Amino acid sequence: MIIDSHCHLDDSSFDEDRNEVLKRAREAGVDLLLAIGTGNGPPDLEAAVRLAAEHDFVYATVGVHPHDARKATPETYDRLAELCKHPKVLALGEIGLDYHYDHSPRDTQRKVFIRQMEIARQAGKPIVIHTREAWADTAALLEEDWGSAGLGGIMHCFSGDAEQARQSLELGFHISFAGVLTFAKAEELRQTATAVPMDRLLVETDAPYLTPAPFRKIRRNEPCYVVETARKLAEIRGISFEEVAKATTRNFLRLFDLPAPD
Ligand SMILES: [Zn+2]
Ligand SMILES: [Zn+2]
Repeated sequence: MIIDSHCHLDDSSFDEDRNEVLKRAREAGVDLLLAIGTGNGPPDLEAAVRLAAEHDFVYATVGVHPHDARKATPETYDRLAELCKHPKVLALGEIGLDYHYDHSPRDTQRKVFIRQMEIARQAGKPIVIHTREAWADTAALLEEDWGSAGLGGIMHCFSGDAEQARQSLELGFHISFAGVLTFAKAEELRQTATAVPMDRLLVETDAPYLTPAPFRKIRRNEPCYVVETARKLAEIRGISFEEVAKATTRNFLRLFDLPAPD
């Protein structure tokens, strides 16, 4: 079995055939998925919780994506804290900073990020980090507000360099690789991926984005393709696919204190 540790299963591109997509995932050995609940932003914070309630093997996160930071209100935070008590909510995420798109003002992004780390800390939940062209600020805020929590989390769709990987590990994070790892141009990232300790590795799709090679022509990524990223990880580390599947599954279950699914 293998776990897709990050997908946007609520995305409207899955509205027509979501059950087929889930069926293909199961057939590919994806026995657990973490649906990211950021959706279209507040006030709807339950995009992933709804799906997790429908399917045993789907778990959820809740959170405000940095893109939507400007939509957060005091009610948003109350509701997030409330939703953290839901038995299938594993983490706060994806939260962080995105200075590439700047869809929300940077100071608002930072405030909303800090506030959500507080909620996660109070709820005793790990966090899922999205960071783009904002590493220095992301690392500084994590250092200040998260490192000491001891709750860890996931650096999602990791695309940083070796030094950023080292810092992430030191802050207690797991490092999750997406389809980017399979892209022709990602040689440096593959180098970095070989240096991440086996017990801190995860794989994800970030579906419907970032379809891995050799399926890049298919516009919409979906959870079954997580096996391609795992295959690439196995190839560059010189180990078997089964070893990658086993390690990443074990890491995910341990991080979230979950029993192995049947
Ligand atoms: Zn992201
Ligand atoms: Zn995402």
